[in-house]
Amino acid sequence: VKNQKKLVVANWKMNPAGPGEARKIFSAVRRVSGLLKRTKVVVCPPAVYSSLFKIDRKNKKLALGVQNIFGQLSGPFTGEIGVQMAKNVGAEFAIVGHSERRVLGETDAVIAQKAAMAVEWGLNAIVCIGEKSRDQNGDYFGFLKTEIQSALSLVKKKFLGQVIVAYEPIWAIGKSFKDAMQPREVHEMAIFIKKVLSDSFGKEWIHGVAILYGGSVNYENAGLIVKDGQIDGLLVGRESLSPEGFKEILKAVDAV
Ligand code: PEP
Repeated sequence: VKNQKKLVVANWKMNPAGPGEARKIFSAVRRVSGLLKRTKVVVCPPAVYSSLFKIDRKNKKLALGVQNIFGQLSGPFTGEIGVQMAKNVGAEFAIVGHSERRVLGETDAVIAQKAAMAVEWGLNAIVCIGEKSRDQNGDYFGFLKTEIQSALSLVKKKFLGQVIVAYEPIWAIGKSFKDAMQPREVHEMAIFIKKVLSDSFGKEWIHGVAILYGGSVNYENAGLIVKDGQIDGLLVGRESLSPEGFKEILKAVDAV
């Protein structure tokens, strides 16, 4: 995934309530995406809406993603969505291991299976990691290292180019935009994540892994977080449902 382009992922979560509103938000994103030069937008709507949106595969500025997939291909798994289904309705990306799914009981082992399944079937896996809180001893570094290593434990090296690590400190998600991480701290965390990746897979294998930040991003902090954080893009929650707010985020990132 990683190339000259920045990546901004829109995680709509369990919104909006109906297809009319979903179409409206999507159309606004599609319009803005046409103006972007260096940025690709990935819209991850609730899966029931996925087939409402047709995206030309040649369009390098806009892509579709799903918010979750299952770790098995098909079978008696009521309520789950398989990788092939996601692909067949046009998804190219899958969010894996979002903190809101971990809270619902998704374990590291399940997440590892999902990440491997996604990349082996040709999806780009947006693997979410992030500590709940910070401590003075830096134990959260150990926690993050384990989370990264575990989530990617079943991913073969040759698929690393389809892996995106989204660093989302849980304490910074869904907060006031002033509570997002500072760009310099984001940069330090990106370095740490790269170090863990290169220790696990070898330096020569990890060039293709994109690193995103997520947690209370809006138009005011988006540009600086990407620029001074020296990261590949953003994962955006709430603001991705606001056509105006999201447009400003995209413009800010594209101007970096
Ligand atoms: C998220 O939950 O992935 C997220 C980044 O949310 P928000 O932007 O609303 O903090």
